Amino acid sequence: MIHQVLDKIYKIELPIPFPLKTMNVYFIDDSPRTLVDAGIKTEASFEILEKGLEAIGFGLNSIERILITHGHIDHYGQAKRLSSLSGAPIYIHPIEYGRIRSIIHSLGFLKSILLRNGAPETLVNEAIQYIESAQSMADSLDEAFFLDDGDSILFKSMTWKTIHCPGHAPGLICFYWPEKKILFTGDHLLKEITPNPVLNVHGNRPPYRYPNLKEYLASLEKIEGLDISLLLPAHGEEVHDVKGLIQKIFVHHKERMDRVLFFLSQREKTPFEIAMDLFPGVPPFEIFLGISEAVGHLEILKEKGIVRLKENEGKDYYSLET
Ligand SMILES: [Zn+2]
Ligand SMILES: [Zn+2]
Repeated sequence: MIHQVLDKIYKIELPIPFPLKTMNVYFIDDSPRTLVDAGIKTEASFEILEKGLEAIGFGLNSIERILITHGHIDHYGQAKRLSSLSGAPIYIHPIEYGRIRSIIHSLGFLKSILLRNGAPETLVNEAIQYIESAQSMADSLDEAFFLDDGDSILFKSMTWKTIHCPGHAPGLICFYWPEKKILFTGDHLLKEITPNPVLNVHGNRPPYRYPNLKEYLASLEKIEGLDISLLLPAHGEEVHDVKGLIQKIFVHHKERMDRVLFFLSQREKTPFEIAMDLFPGVPPFEIFLGISEAVGHLEILKEKGIVRLKENEGKDYYSLET
């Protein structure tokens, strides 16, 4: 449940009620004692974190700083609870702070985006309900300090750098420890699964552009340029072959883009229809992720002049440019 990854760095696996099953928080035993990501707000998650810290001689009140990689509930859910117990300040990118604070207000906008992308209303309502009820597993944030690209994170015996990697979430930040060539990736890079570039529905204004996949790929290139020998992701195992993993993800997206083009060669389609072609039979709550993926590819193809977008009765249709 808890294991030492390196001198000073401990990994604690916490349960989450999603298909991924667990997420990793990292406890750094240096001054200030720091937690990277906080876990979801459930009793199970809370107890396992407490027991994990006890096993190495610490308590929840030993936490002196909480760093959040991005605003998904499995990462920030119990941050506020831990912060009020320990007095530890919370650090996060300002975009994610804003998204967390406005999540409930942005659900109406999310609904309109899903409908516009061709999802049927009953499914959209189910998806929105799911997202709304999942908020019970997270506390919103009040006070937080902001971290942006290039900001230093100081410890007594080391200094990390903040690397802004938009894509999976618009304000996702990774933490880089140059001397040891280690990167805490959040969900930007995971070993077994390709992270979803999720649509950002916060603060979107017409003409509604969603450069999620484009930004994600640019963030991958940014990481590719760093000297890294170990990735510490927020789900699953550590990764040693960093360049290999990044290449695998580039190839994966290239293949998926070819499939999107193939599905579009049949006839014009909405992003929802493309999502159904790509992921047949996905449960309603994952519709949003499927559409995010489809839109990410369609936006890039549109920018390259390969596909065209047409609106019809409030829905977006894409077709191959002839
Ligand atoms: Zn995430
Ligand atoms: Zn996650």
